[in-house]
Amino acid sequence: MPKSGPGAAVSDIPSLDRLLNAQALAPALAEHGRSQVVAALRKDLAALRERALAGGLPKAELDEAAVAARVAGELARRARPRLRAVYNLTGTVLHTNLGRALLPDEAVASVLRALSSPANLEFDLDSGGRGDRDDLIDELLCELTGAEAATVVNNNAAAVLLMLNALADRREVVVSRGELVEIGGAFRIPDIMKRAGAKLIEVGTTNRTHAADYESAIGARTAMLMKVHCSNYAVTGFTKSVGVAEVAAMAHARGLPATVDLGSGTLVDLTQFGLPREDTVRETIEAGADLVTFSGDKLLGGPQAGLLVGRADLIRKIKKNPLKRALRVGKLTLAALEPVLGLYRAPEFLAQRLTTLRLLTRPQRDIQPQAERLRGALAHAAGPHYAVEAVPMFSQIGSGALPVDQLPSYGLEVRYAGKGRPGRHLDKLEARLRGLPVPVIGRIADDALWLDLRCLEAAHEADFAAQLTEPLA
Ligand SMILES: *Cc1c(COP(=O)(O)O)cnc(C)c1O
Repeated sequence: MPKSGPGAAVSDIPSLDRLLNAQALAPALAEHGRSQVVAALRKDLAALRERALAGGLPKAELDEAAVAARVAGELARRARPRLRAVYNLTGTVLHTNLGRALLPDEAVASVLRALSSPANLEFDLDSGGRGDRDDLIDELLCELTGAEAATVVNNNAAAVLLMLNALADRREVVVSRGELVEIGGAFRIPDIMKRAGAKLIEVGTTNRTHAADYESAIGARTAMLMKVHCSNYAVTGFTKSVGVAEVAAMAHARGLPATVDLGSGTLVDLTQFGLPREDTVRETIEAGADLVTFSGDKLLGGPQAGLLVGRADLIRKIKKNPLKRALRVGKLTLAALEPVLGLYRAPEFLAQRLTTLRLLTRPQRDIQPQAERLRGALAHAAGPHYAVEAVPMFSQIGSGALPVDQLPSYGLEVRYAGKGRPGRHLDKLEARLRGLPVPVIGRIADDALWLDLRCLEAAHEADFAAQLTEPLA
């Protein structure tokens, strides 16, 4: 038959029944089941009918094998999970869009157990009576922070919302103007305050707030003085802020609580690992904070969660608030959180066992040889129009932790080597890396594509390289 003969007619299209009995469809039926295959076939046949009526439908597209291949492809696409593992080569270790902290093995094993077996989530094994899910971790949290009491909710935004609603509903909360942060676009202190029913009293100016500013704002309706960690920005130059100890002393002199949203909240002195300094939760409590809130999946290195620690009477009040029930964590969160907190009992092993800390402390000398090993593979996969070099670069901690500090790292820098402007070509390469079976996420800046290898641990290097054996389509 000539290649460009008349197109197929509607009457040439095979019937649904015939296709369902065709050998070519057997694998799809075995894998996806009859109902999905029937639905996909109906869609395919309807499209064929339309094209046949329009004219010019090649007969080859009606082959049973061709139909089967299209249907199998469509069903495979549908079956592919939307939530997929990726390589985070962005250089930001705690990347909010890529899921923040990775759980250590102990936590993964614990989550698996909790998923597949009943557990004493709210059951007291000593008394045989009803328990409180907070009991699973509050002792550990108190031990690690020096606080009297603790509780957990879905995330730190929830912790702040709950704290404000429980302690400051229809009353005033005094916050420095320099600390009214917006985190990731959706979390803004003034908005959360409003939703919690509290009235924000801003004091000081963007760059300078003095003790007297707090003092003069305190009145009969004041519920608390609050400090917020400037997670994702730094105020530099002519600045002044009032520390936790001083704010707490002012609050206590008036019988008010001082609260601190620490954001990332770390439990250990990070300088011992060569990382920049951050006030720990314990130091914040010791400085006089009555309540501290922080995230589970930032520097702590655990699952998404919001932790509240502090004075027993305030935590009791918070736990009685109906929002606590609405914002509570599930068993998977607690299953992950307990072993992560447990790792902090042995700080000697922390940098090895806590995945987040291991990634943050990976020395440049470990990352450099990896970049040199992978350079050739990426150059081959990228093709002759791109120049790939192993170069030093800087990673960031991310998630609002220590925004101005950078970690010496190593990685691959890809530049467009052809003529013309590089932008479109870099975008194309970036999209191809993103289209790999395990997508590779890098970062485009300064006319280059940057792949920071800090988060590609040795155990994953071979799988990573295996995706680069063919030129990127
Ligand atoms: C990150 C952050 C939050 C929000 O925490 P989530 O756990 O993401 O809800 C709130 N406050 C500060 C200061 C933060 O850095």
